[in-house]
Amino acid sequence: MAGVSPAILRKRGNDMKTKKDVKALVAAMTLEEKAAMCSGYDFWHTAGVERLGIPQSMVSDGPHGLRKQAGKADHLGLNEAIKAICFPAGCATAASFNPALIEEMGHVLGNECQAEELSVLLGPAMNIKRSPLCGRNFEYYSEDPLVAGKMASALVRGIQAEGTGACVKHYLANSQEMYRMTCSSEIDERTLREIYMPAFEIAVKEADPWTVMCSYNKINGVYAAESRKYLTEVLRDEWGFDGYVMSDWGACNDRVPDLEAGLDLEMPSSGGGTTAEIITAVKDGRLEESVVDTACERILSVVFRYEENRNKEAVFDREKDHAAAERIAEETVVLLKNEGGVLPLTKSSKTVFIGKYAAAPRYQGGGSSHINSYRVTSALEKAGVPYAQGFQDGTSETDEALLAEAVELARGADTAVVFVGLPDSFESEGYDRSHLRLPACQEELVRRVAEVQENVVVVLHNGSPVEMPWADSVKGIVEAYLGGEGVGAAVAKVLYGEVNPSGKLPETFPKRLEDTPCYLCYGGDGSTVEYREGVFVGYRYYDAKDIDVLFPFGHGLSYTTFSYSPLRVDKEAMLDTETLTVSLDVTNTGCMAGKEVVQLYVGRPEGGKVMRPLKELRAFDKVSLEPGETKTVTFTLSSRAFSYWNETAGRFIAPTGTYKLLAGSSSKDIRSVSEVSVKCTVNVRKPVSLDTAIGEVEDWPEAMALLNGPVTRLMKVFGVGEVQDASSAMTDEMGAAMVRYMPLRNLVGFAGEPKENLLKIIGEINSLL
Ligand code: BGC
Repeated sequence: MAGVSPAILRKRGNDMKTKKDVKALVAAMTLEEKAAMCSGYDFWHTAGVERLGIPQSMVSDGPHGLRKQAGKADHLGLNEAIKAICFPAGCATAASFNPALIEEMGHVLGNECQAEELSVLLGPAMNIKRSPLCGRNFEYYSEDPLVAGKMASALVRGIQAEGTGACVKHYLANSQEMYRMTCSSEIDERTLREIYMPAFEIAVKEADPWTVMCSYNKINGVYAAESRKYLTEVLRDEWGFDGYVMSDWGACNDRVPDLEAGLDLEMPSSGGGTTAEIITAVKDGRLEESVVDTACERILSVVFRYEENRNKEAVFDREKDHAAAERIAEETVVLLKNEGGVLPLTKSSKTVFIGKYAAAPRYQGGGSSHINSYRVTSALEKAGVPYAQGFQDGTSETDEALLAEAVELARGADTAVVFVGLPDSFESEGYDRSHLRLPACQEELVRRVAEVQENVVVVLHNGSPVEMPWADSVKGIVEAYLGGEGVGAAVAKVLYGEVNPSGKLPETFPKRLEDTPCYLCYGGDGSTVEYREGVFVGYRYYDAKDIDVLFPFGHGLSYTTFSYSPLRVDKEAMLDTETLTVSLDVTNTGCMAGKEVVQLYVGRPEGGKVMRPLKELRAFDKVSLEPGETKTVTFTLSSRAFSYWNETAGRFIAPTGTYKLLAGSSSKDIRSVSEVSVKCTVNVRKPVSLDTAIGEVEDWPEAMALLNGPVTRLMKVFGVGEVQDASSAMTDEMGAAMVRYMPLRNLVGFAGEPKENLLKIIGEINSLL
């Protein structure tokens, strides 16, 4: 397994691997049985072989609860599933910035799977949020690959520790719903490596998922299901994935090449059609039987891994798990604005709740992740305050009577909390949004309530950012996301200060859709979508373009305050083969216990020639602090934290330079800054030719030494370093720039260097490579 580190291979020795000799089992199977195993038996089961004691194995959605369909099956959440706990969706769990909490959620889900006899839970869904328009963003984690990768790893670890497999999905570059089954995501390799792949890479390397689901879309013209490069060369050979790859439901394009590329299991069943194709291809000699064998071995390794780690005592205790869902939701709530300390509310003042979602929160999204929820709590039932509905859900039309009633209620109160958000039909799997506004009736409600009430708090229930033209007219804004069935109780606790909010935004809230990085090219034309913004996704774009945003990535307030000490580094200079330890002390300087998410960004080196984001999140940690308490937060950075993907070298490179280390409470609230010099030990120089500009080699002392004679003469020609009077048309600076941008071939014409000599020098330079 070329490229896989020994540490990863050691980790793979974990004791949950099957003891079964799956090779021998596959050797005992007929070609027909093996071909059948490469497709689902039905909608949710893998095929079994009774005579060999191979059981059928059930998989089920995922990701934030069990959508186990006992009856009629579908992949769009249409038909009834068993009653299950709806945990916070990915948008919310990411906001917790707390992998330990998400791992705990994984344990609960894993145990539920054991009780319900599910071998694989189809999640986490972890695609990058390229645009807030993506209808499925509610299921995904972040615009930042580190956050997505860490959250996904945590969920995978938790689920799998209970003996059920997880399935990281949708691999790869599936960041829109529009034409998701045909569209080709056109992305350069660097952008894939830096933005769209690392979350999967982290999950595979750190959490060892049992399965991966390939996405529907094409990547640069090749279906993900058919991409040998991404399914085998990257996923298995580079990252060390050793489970099975399944297709998204209906993502198989052409079964034989898909299988050869590394797509082991087609889901759901093809009704025997693709089984026949595989058999014929093997018989005709177009497909090596060993390819079928390998796929079966991988599938059976997971099937028996599950069978051998069954917990037959597991019980799906819905009450207990509901309580867990509520506790997790408490940590996902993000306090966006709290002017004049309008929150927390006091029980003695007269508070009213307005808006449909106070009584019936929107707490989950539509599509394959849709849970038949056990019990949904509302903030209203928890708080028991006067209430007015304010708007009809699912429409933009204002209901004048409801609006008038709400305004009257708000007028007579000390504080009005207005619950608004996106109705189900505004965001879902399967289609994208066309704008970022709330329904007009809800915007009007906020505006009209704010006209009669100075203490307005808005609670938002949405899976992805919304524009807030009303933001300045209210004192408080609470982002509750789609927080699962316990969200109502969690929000009430945050509003009344029983829980100190500690969520942070895992994505930027832009001021308007037009500001978003891929505004001009999102969606594409059905056959292709160009990722022209490259690596400048989310805050990487807003920072670089200095665009004002509504709420920045990483933002989230608390009812207490935190101070950051200066940063400490264990060395001021390092080689790219070393690691750096960065630490700081964080103190709770307020009077309430609270949790702070410390974010460590690395700034690009000064004067570097590579186009890079100004800074990138490289580590984060959530610390819990009593009033007055101080804790030390320590991060270890490897050279990857300073690296970009160098296409020429085909690897990550940390260029020599001085990098800023920025610790902050958000991407815009940097509290402590330090720096480190990194020396690159990898030779990434390109061969020089007559067309190479002089400036391209000026930071290469050995090359410049060989070119010294002709270059010095060229400088003379342009008067560099000569005394010039004020009236001279050419300054030193201008001359030096002219020289820098000239190709080496001009040393012949302008500096009189014989061409043979120059070619000899070029040869000598290239021999240094
Ligand atoms: C979704 C997957 C889901 C599958 C099975 C597909 O439409 O994209 O995320 O796991 O259906 O329901």
